[in-house]
Amino acid sequence: MYTAIYPGSFDPVTKGHLDIIDRASKVTDNLIVAVLNNGAKNSLFSVEERVKMLEEETAHLNNVTVKSFAGLLVDFAAECNANMIIRGLRAITDFEYELQMAQTNRILNHKVDTFFLTAGLEYAYLSSSTVKEVAKFGGDLSAFVTPKVAEQVKKKINS
Ligand code: ADP
Repeated sequence: MYTAIYPGSFDPVTKGHLDIIDRASKVTDNLIVAVLNNGAKNSLFSVEERVKMLEEETAHLNNVTVKSFAGLLVDFAAECNANMIIRGLRAITDFEYELQMAQTNRILNHKVDTFFLTAGLEYAYLSSSTVKEVAKFGGDLSAFVTPKVAEQVKKKINS
């Protein structure tokens, strides 16, 4: 039984994240998308808003659930009986940080292993920060996020 956690900020969820979720859900029994509740990080959306957006975007995937977590990822993984952590790799710039995190997490809890999926080619450049930057200047978000998420980003930025 493969229970996996896909953690991240998802502020907001992009088409790149959704591509990883879709692909990871096909190779796991249960996939938990875990939204990091990091009070210190300046996020555009609240954790509750990010969870809700992800729930709406993944409603068609039967083995995917969305939760929020605070504290150590490995503790949350143990709480969920998860044995896999899924992360997406976009470019070499992601690699160093991700490698360090994966190794640290494995030392903290050797029962959980990190699996990397390479970003879809069409989303390899895409980040939540890019989405927010483009939105700030009124740019077209349709290549980056779903129409529903685009609507919410625009509303939030203009509020
Ligand atoms: P974090 O703040 O932890 O980087 P993100 O929400 O930005 O959280 O990303 C969560 C995970 O999704 C990370 O593994 C990141 O590398 C991956 N990711 C982010 N954007 C993309 C993308 N466009 N394509 C594939 N993976 C991505």
